[in-house]
Amino acid sequence: MEDKHICQTCKHFRQHYVKWGEDRYRECGSGHCVYPRRKPRYNDTKACRYYISKETQDIC
Ligand code: SF4
Repeated sequence: MEDKHICQTCKHFRQHYVKWGEDRYRECGSGHCVYPRRKPRYNDTKACRYYISKETQDIC
């Protein structure tokens, strides 16, 4: 995935899915953010100042 600065590529974003048929799920156009508090966000919402790329490795 191209690392655009949008919520979908942020480590704090949780993708939402819709049930599709018996046993399949499809990504929908939104999800929610978990930092610094829970809030709904579209996949393509422009990143905020808390953005951290999903590609970033944890340091611990
Ligand atoms: S609102 Fe900010 S912290 Fe939350 S998912 Fe989007 S870019 Fe990341």
